[in-house]
Amino acid sequence: MSRESVTRRAFLEISAAVAASGALMPRELWAAGQDAVVDVPSSNNHTGYEKVEWKAKPFPMAQVRLKPGLLKDMQERDRVYLFMLPNDRLLHSFRLTAGKPSTAQPLGGWEAPDGDLRGHFAGGHYLSACALMYAATGDEQLRVKAEALVAGLAECQQEDGYLGAYPTSMYDRMKKGSLLPDEQHWNGWTDHVWAPFYTFHKIMAGHLDMYVHCGSETALNTARRMGDWAVQWVTPLTDEQMDKVQRIEHGGMNEALFNLYALTGEKKYLEGGLRFEHKRFFEPLAARQDKLDGLHTNTNIPKVIGAARGYELTGDERYKGIAEFFWQTVVDHHTFAPGGTSNANEGWSAPDTAGSHLAAHGQECCCSYNMLKLTRHLFGWKPDARWMDYYERLLWNVRAGTQSTDGMLMYYLATIPGGWKTFGEAYDSFWCCTGTGVEEYAKLVDTIYFHDENAVYVNQFVSSELSWPEKRARLTQQTSFPEEERTSIVVHAEKPVSFALKLRAPHWSPKIAVSVNGIAEKAVAGSDGYLLLERTWKSGDRVEVSLPMTLRQEPVAGSPELATLAYGPLVLAACMGRDGLSTEMSVNQGPDMNRLPALPMPQFEAASAAGAEAGKEPSWVKTSGDGELRFRTVGQIKEMELKPLYQVMDERYSVYWQKARKG
Ligand SMILES: [Zn+2]
Repeated sequence: MSRESVTRRAFLEISAAVAASGALMPRELWAAGQDAVVDVPSSNNHTGYEKVEWKAKPFPMAQVRLKPGLLKDMQERDRVYLFMLPNDRLLHSFRLTAGKPSTAQPLGGWEAPDGDLRGHFAGGHYLSACALMYAATGDEQLRVKAEALVAGLAECQQEDGYLGAYPTSMYDRMKKGSLLPDEQHWNGWTDHVWAPFYTFHKIMAGHLDMYVHCGSETALNTARRMGDWAVQWVTPLTDEQMDKVQRIEHGGMNEALFNLYALTGEKKYLEGGLRFEHKRFFEPLAARQDKLDGLHTNTNIPKVIGAARGYELTGDERYKGIAEFFWQTVVDHHTFAPGGTSNANEGWSAPDTAGSHLAAHGQECCCSYNMLKLTRHLFGWKPDARWMDYYERLLWNVRAGTQSTDGMLMYYLATIPGGWKTFGEAYDSFWCCTGTGVEEYAKLVDTIYFHDENAVYVNQFVSSELSWPEKRARLTQQTSFPEEERTSIVVHAEKPVSFALKLRAPHWSPKIAVSVNGIAEKAVAGSDGYLLLERTWKSGDRVEVSLPMTLRQEPVAGSPELATLAYGPLVLAACMGRDGLSTEMSVNQGPDMNRLPALPMPQFEAASAAGAEAGKEPSWVKTSGDGELRFRTVGQIKEMELKPLYQVMDERYSVYWQKARKG
């Protein structure tokens, strides 16, 4: 932690210097109200202040339940981990900051009493995760535990509304563009934090989630008063001071305040959200310019989620353009094969250079979490399968397989050949990615189904059950996808009911086939990429979907000598053995290549030109043929086994391949 944190502090200080020259940087992540408004249960009497409504909306999470399967296992491990963290330990630093006694054993890692982000997890991500988990499972005991934490935190809130695990003096320093007290310099600091508003955002978001998903009025009250404090803090700042403050990572402060406005209708929060707009970052995006090179990835994605919320609440098309251009730019030009973004410096590089930036510390997990959240907004505005194809890629390659069997979370997902997966510890990590991780596995139900008035969108192939009370219907989806290439959906209804079933036709399955009650239906996707089955459904009607997967060789933009392999939505990894790996080496933020050097990238030689062509079935890899997701090379100098990246654990791997040079 110490070496890492020094690096990060140095990063911030450097960024302050660089900011003057037009570049920026810092780090960050978000959490806020799971589309706070869209998902608000009607019991909260929410009226809505949206100017732009989603064309398709997620079902409230309480109406979707996971059935046994891979995702259910991930959810369950996460639920167990949330129960492992005692409230007294979570409250420790908040209580000390508020001048209250605490004899609890302090948490470690980034939540340690001198940790630079203390409070971000304990009073923020943790609450969001509990709220989401309650919505997704109905676990009343967890809701009660989280509500008690909310009450404990409320006792630590200051009269002026401030709530944090360190004092407000840490904020005041930012007006000078520094996080250090005047008399100290980098070599002598003792009293410091990284990113005050980053942490503040997480705490506010956790409270908003507790209100949205658990109906906690105490949490809403705390969030309102936090909002009041933040608004009164930024209002008197000059533009010059605001610019200095924003050089330091500030998460999705715009989004948190927008969400608070969406829940309360109080204009001051809308104005506060607008004040937090980071103009230096947004201006090139609004002009449709890719200036991401050199910027810190996860510092910036939450701001764009804020832009998406800003568009929804104000109707400002500029915000819409920023969100859409940003998403397309990241996905087309700054994404690694599994779907993650961020290079070895947790930043972006020049466009189309991913192949030159393979790293042990690449693909920071919270970047993927945030890109998934942004994607849901874009889908809501214009439902289209391409958003959900991307969602699926991240779900199965970056979110599945980055949680250990005991529920611990990953920070980086290595792209370097010979990398391996590493995980945090239960009480001594609390990284940004621990925070987004506990949220992710709590909200796996949130995107499987969306709906409009007359149609249900089946976005993801996951064993689950959906209640649709407006139609007096339930849908059960049964599948062990991606370990089988099919899914089935059964309708349960009190009486025959008309609605459209929209099934995503994934880009990777050109031979998708559908039948209803055993009779084949035309399987041609509409312009939105969904197959449409519109009829009056009777209870027991059964839809069978066949989703044949094929092997594909995929190009690496800007690196014609490299290739990756995919099977259906699954990115394949070459298995590179366990030699030299110890259990202890898997407990870390990422693989330590000083302890075990990187391995040469696996090479392939295609038997024919066609076999090497991107997007085609490669001639040099075959499935094992035994129905398992196992693959092997054929006709190569060194034959290798492959498996889906999400199944890789405790072994070294590479998802990138190099074309062998012909002598
Ligand atoms: Zn992270």
